[in-house]
Amino acid sequence: MPATKVTFDCAKCPGYCCTYDRIETKPADIARLAKYHGVTIAQATTRFTKTYTWEGKTERILRHQKDTVYKSVCMFFDTEARRCTIYKGRPSVCREYPDGKKCGYYDFIKFERKHQEDPAFVPNAGTL
Ligand code: SF4
Ligand code: SF4
Repeated sequence: MPATKVTFDCAKCPGYCCTYDRIETKPADIARLAKYHGVTIAQATTRFTKTYTWEGKTERILRHQKDTVYKSVCMFFDTEARRCTIYKGRPSVCREYPDGKKCGYYDFIKFERKHQEDPAFVPNAGTL
């Protein structure tokens, strides 16, 4: 039977998903970022994204900044408040995640917190 209630709580998470180093930005995402910030698409592309190449394919991903909890996090993440600063301008992949009632990152955090018997434990801090 499918889960009927949401099993993650972003308020108890240090923004783990925003530390993922490959937040893809499609042309529509970059156009949205440009509009949100009042800059040209070329400026948004340069300022907010960089290229990522693997297996001969190239995509544009959001730039990162140093983080206080993890090694790095999306440049649009408020590292003190632990939240997105461009909520209405965020890329599609951020809008879609997590696609359902479960969040894999949160499941991992919950598992480790239970294992460590520490409800505030942050697994992988400083290593991601
Ligand atoms: S990792 Fe999951 S629980 Fe944490 S902020 Fe992202 S969506 Fe929310
Ligand atoms: S744009 Fe916002 S939601 Fe998306 S990764 Fe960056 S901080 Fe997180």
